[in-house]
Amino acid sequence: MVEFEQILKSRGYRLTNQRRVIVRELEGERHLSAEEIYDRVKGTHPDIGLSTVYRTLDLLHDLDIVRKEDFGEGYSRYELATERMHHHARCRECGRVIEFNEELMEYLALQVERETGFVTDWHEITLHGRCAACAAS
Ligand SMILES: [Zn+2]
Ligand SMILES: [Zn+2]
Repeated sequence: MVEFEQILKSRGYRLTNQRRVIVRELEGERHLSAEEIYDRVKGTHPDIGLSTVYRTLDLLHDLDIVRKEDFGEGYSRYELATERMHHHARCRECGRVIEFNEELMEYLALQVERETGFVTDWHEITLHGRCAACAAS
């Protein structure tokens, strides 16, 4: 939290209570949508509306405090940028998001470079399919 406070301060923003509450939710759980964050905080923080959540997430994203992810659901999910870089596999049946590590993607990018000469500087992939439990049933 101290870290976020410093990032905000260095850009001329304050760590308001609303911002603190939203960052704390993302510390507790990754890949939350704005609506999910709103649902979690509205009981204890009636001053935080859905539009505040959206506005705060946009700001935190602009400041590189949160990463925005698109799992093809028609809305974004968020996680803190301090999480180790990783990629996602999303179950289309139950919505579960599984994370897998970065090294596999780096290996793939190197293979592509070797074969085509294409130099990758950014990649973000989501695998779509069914999780182990759904695939077994
Ligand atoms: Zn599943
Ligand atoms: Zn993740």
